[in-house]
Amino acid sequence: MNTIVLKFGGSSVADNEKLKLVAEKIIGLYKKGHKIVVVVSAQGKTTDKLIEEAETLSPKVEDREMDALLSTGEQMSIAKLSILLNQLGYPSISLTGWQAGIYTNNTNQNAIIKCIDTSRIREELEKNKIVIVAGFQGINENKDITTLGRGGSDTTAVAIAAALSAQNCYIFSDVDGVYTTDPNRLAEAKKLPALSYEEMLEISSEGAKVLHNRCVEIGEKFKVPIITKSTFNNKPGTVISDIIEENTIKSIVKKDISRIAIVGNGMIRNFPKIQSILDLIEKNKLEMLEFNVSESKISINFKNQISDQILDEIHLKLINEI
Ligand code: ADP
Ligand code: ASP
Ligand code: MG
Repeated sequence: MNTIVLKFGGSSVADNEKLKLVAEKIIGLYKKGHKIVVVVSAQGKTTDKLIEEAETLSPKVEDREMDALLSTGEQMSIAKLSILLNQLGYPSISLTGWQAGIYTNNTNQNAIIKCIDTSRIREELEKNKIVIVAGFQGINENKDITTLGRGGSDTTAVAIAAALSAQNCYIFSDVDGVYTTDPNRLAEAKKLPALSYEEMLEISSEGAKVLHNRCVEIGEKFKVPIITKSTFNNKPGTVISDIIEENTIKSIVKKDISRIAIVGNGMIRNFPKIQSILDLIEKNKLEMLEFNVSESKISINFKNQISDQILDEIHLKLINEI
């Protein structure tokens, strides 16, 4: 069975117009003969709003009830998308986390997927339906709803792709791939055609929210190629797989205000780049508390706040040298 998993984030399903674009993308792939599982996030800023609303009701919201509330965002998205696809003549069915067989541990708001019983998803795919699953949620051993942590729909998508041995997992978003730094902040950021799982894991863990870090771990463990693309154009995206390319800097990430990370396989042997970074630090008279070099990352903790201007200077120097 040639199955693919497609995930659409909150900005891609923000309103009815965008839902129509999402439906078109899904239909195009369905017509090519793929079996399709779609994972969707809550619309736009729904999750933020739900958290705010809960907090105006109580200064201490119970973790269980917070998850019961937050999961409704994704539930609205799956039902709306399914209504739309059915109306357009393409049979589809929406499944919440528990209906899709997603079992997690008990850690509310940061739950980990323990296993997926794919029988319902497979049953619906066999009927040629487009299966639309709510991202970011599952149930624990008490059958209570849990959520996977902010940005967790990416993890739902890759975990389902792994459980179904899907060909690829496509993560559609408002950016058309993974860039050398956040493209919404710096226009000079360059799109990366390919990354290894290890590099992507470093980029996500250092704070680039383009992919949830746990989805990259699952992708690596189960060898699911993850392809990030834009919902709003057809440009080639970034493929995250086992490919390893040495000695290229892939991304500069600022996590906290005083920490930056420079990611790329072979960093530990890339002496010219290490020297360039040290030269820039000296030129800007920055005081370092820690300088760590590992196989695929240099991370630096500074004594003081690092401005975006310095981050951009480091980016321009290191990336333009490629
Ligand atoms: P979605 O709602 O589709 O899950 P997110 O907002 O979680 O999307 O992630 C996409 C955002 O990640 C982009 O809009 C971009 O601003 C941000 N981002 C941060 N770092 C990067 C990077 N290195 N490459 C691409 N996008 C990045
Ligand atoms: N809706 C959740 C969030 O906003 C999950 C996700 O979008 O991936 O964090
Ligand atoms: Mg996201």
